[in-house]
Amino acid sequence: MARLKDYEDIVGKKNLNQLKSLAFLSKGKKVIMVNSTKDGGGVAEILHRLIPLLNELGINCQWKTIYGNNGFFNITKDIHNSLQGKKLDIKNELLEKYLKVNKEYAQNVNLDADIVIIHDPQPLPLIKYYPRNNTKWVWRCHIDVSKPDLFLWKFLKKYVEMYDASIFSISKFAKSLPYPQYLIAPSIDPLSNKNRDLSKNEIENVLDTYRIKKDKPIILQVSRFDKFKDPLGVIKAYRLVKKEINCKLILAGGTASDDPEGEEIFKEVKNESKDDPDIHILFLKSKSDIVINALQRSADVVIQKSIKEGFGLVVTESMWKEKAVIGGEVGGITIQLYNNLNGFLVNSIEGAAFRVRYLLNRPDVSKNLGKQAKKFVTKNFLITRHLRDYLALFYILENPNKNIIYA
Ligand code: UDP
Repeated sequence: MARLKDYEDIVGKKNLNQLKSLAFLSKGKKVIMVNSTKDGGGVAEILHRLIPLLNELGINCQWKTIYGNNGFFNITKDIHNSLQGKKLDIKNELLEKYLKVNKEYAQNVNLDADIVIIHDPQPLPLIKYYPRNNTKWVWRCHIDVSKPDLFLWKFLKKYVEMYDASIFSISKFAKSLPYPQYLIAPSIDPLSNKNRDLSKNEIENVLDTYRIKKDKPIILQVSRFDKFKDPLGVIKAYRLVKKEINCKLILAGGTASDDPEGEEIFKEVKNESKDDPDIHILFLKSKSDIVINALQRSADVVIQKSIKEGFGLVVTESMWKEKAVIGGEVGGITIQLYNNLNGFLVNSIEGAAFRVRYLLNRPDVSKNLGKQAKKFVTKNFLITRHLRDYLALFYILENPNKNIIYA
């Protein structure tokens, strides 16, 4: 596991010293993060890297996950989808079950801390079942809640309003709430197996394992198999490109333990692509970090054709590897990609195909956009910036009247 000093070559000593000074202001504070899975998806990815570094900085930070069975995660996946705009199709008794699982968890798990940070909707109602003492409760929402199903939002808002603050990834997701809302963008860890430099051998081993030859340009999308990531749209875009450029497509991803829909979507995608030997559909096991790293480094063009996206860490990961990324113009992707400066945003299958062709035909443009992409990530989306935002938040929560932090 990386230590803070290991980041000095990437972000400089000054940045690290600033983190230490900020952390000193909250030294010894107890912070508990709660989410719904330790395995799969962007939130788990971030917490795995962030929490050890917070501890190294002197914050007593623990990570807990709400446990539930498939029934619970079926409900919370519906809630997740409806917060992102799908019409809610859950009966009242299922919402009761959602509350019941939260209530039972609260009866069994101690969340005594200075600050409790609840990630996403699964454990959102927990706050109702704990006594109100001096603990500050923060709801950290990672998903696109700009246009939720209104019935669902009305139901959840009762719980959201009980918090002391909320965090969103981009300003468009902020809501009308009776307390401070903070913007904190997610981040990647440049030293993790997912993002560190790989040797030629490591990359070749991965390609050999999956029997992928580098004999044609590679278009890649890495994502959980999820409707909002639009894997079928990616296949259609690839087919349009393929009419003019002989290329191959890799769709790689697994599922998350709190996402019961993955396997079904995987089957649909597999079925759609079965006649084409140039489409590789890879179902990744958990902890496939080096595989994902190698695939991203091998791609000629990376695509993330999401139609809803909280942030899109996979975009950041590919930008870090100097790839020109084409992303759907939605959610957090819009604060990462800027047309013709560090990648491209698209709004349709045809638009995606047009940009893929454009980049495959212009390797120099692609290379230059990739270089800009890495610079942009270095400045905005590395874990050290994320740590700074959290440390500032911890201080502000305890000192609400201070406008300036003298660290
Ligand atoms: N990821 C993974 N295995 C997979 C698919 C994705 O480890 O099979 C990782 C991916 O590299 C990224 C995170 O999970 O770090 C996905 O985050 P993102 O914000 O892109 O999407 P989310 O899944 O959270 O909607």
